[in-house]
Amino acid sequence: MTPHNLTILGATGTIGVNTLDVVARHPERFRVVALTGFNQVDKLAEQCRQFQPRYAVVPDAARATALQALLGNSPTEVLHGEAALEQVVALPEVDSVMAAIVGAAGLKPALAAAKAGKRILLANKETLVMAGRFFMQAVHDGGATLLPIDSEHNAVFQSMPAGYDGDLAKHGVRRILLTASGGPFRTRAVETLAAVTPEEAVAHPNWVMGKKISVDSATMMNKGLEVIEAHWLFNAKPEQIEVVIHPQSIIHSMVEYLDGSVLAQLSHPDMRTPIAHALAYPERMAAGVPWLDLAKTGTLTFETPDIRRFPCLQLAFDALQTDTTAPTVLNAANEEAVAAFLDHRIAYLTIPATLDAAMQRLGSARADSLDDLVAIDQEARAVARQYIAGHTR
Ligand code: NDP
Ligand code: MG
Repeated sequence: MTPHNLTILGATGTIGVNTLDVVARHPERFRVVALTGFNQVDKLAEQCRQFQPRYAVVPDAARATALQALLGNSPTEVLHGEAALEQVVALPEVDSVMAAIVGAAGLKPALAAAKAGKRILLANKETLVMAGRFFMQAVHDGGATLLPIDSEHNAVFQSMPAGYDGDLAKHGVRRILLTASGGPFRTRAVETLAAVTPEEAVAHPNWVMGKKISVDSATMMNKGLEVIEAHWLFNAKPEQIEVVIHPQSIIHSMVEYLDGSVLAQLSHPDMRTPIAHALAYPERMAAGVPWLDLAKTGTLTFETPDIRRFPCLQLAFDALQTDTTAPTVLNAANEEAVAAFLDHRIAYLTIPATLDAAMQRLGSARADSLDDLVAIDQEARAVARQYIAGHTR
């Protein structure tokens, strides 16, 4: 078997580390061509020693020097800067790109992978939220293949009919049911949410994830971003997407068909399952995840999300209702608000308030090009920062 060549963007993050864990279980099947990191240079050096990629990418010259020093005379070439990220996804020898940078920084390299016609394993949901129309167009024009890594979308993908081409009606699909764990504050008294600390917010009951997505799970903004992600991935209208709380995180999402059938994907809440699915697709391979023992799992329960508790979820549905750049605004304001919250600068409930303020100011803007979108993203960040400055504690 000729090995499948991979570039892993965001290799030092939670998804990156899980990807390398799966890859290490199948050394005959994969070859790592490039790894990228940001702050964690030591960890990147360790990964380079283990996987011997041709390239490693860090953000700047200082970190490049530091990485080079750690690597000594290893065969890995150290590159730096944003252009290098775009370079290592588009190399002719690269077959697949794991897009696992967090936040808006992941957009440009994901677009470069789309234009280069690669198979894209998309974890960075912000790419679709910020620039869904442009990204899907680039995937189409570049002849790229898109495989969702986000566990819900990977579950939907697995539960869709083979050869699904973006026409729900033609395939007899009525709705997509996205499951949500409800995060750490599902049952906490609503009156006490004002006092939530970053430490409490990042302590997710079922999943181990990066800090930003952990806060997004607590506010359910993560599910909101995923509703927008599902809209673009599966060409589903907002009314064809429903969110259902499922605290055990065993069913990762479902597809409902016109005949009343509901197909679901179940597994342990371990990202190595969707990662292995996408890495091996259309084949299957071991992920290192324990087998699901349903009798031991016991009861699976479901609830309707309470919008009073999770206003961010409603904001995301609202953003999708109009053909504007509201999702871009929402995503940008959210990144600013979450960073400020993690920094102890604002209170937990100032997160939805910041999003609301940004949406009110900029929610009806339109974009004809990617440059327009980037400008709106910047403007939304400025509005959010201004709001945050006025509500710092
Ligand atoms: P982490 O914060 O754990 O990792 C982020 C990665 O991106 C790290 O490698 C980090 O480098 C790198 N990075 C951070 N900022 C920049 C930047 N400005 N430019 C380039 N690289 C950067 O996040 P996760 O792995 O949890 O999430 C990654 C993406 O996957 C997110 O979009 C998230 O929404 C999505 N996702 C994650 C899931 C999960 O279970 N974790 C589930 C579904 C989706 P360094 O660490 O070296 O600083
Ligand atoms: Mg998810």
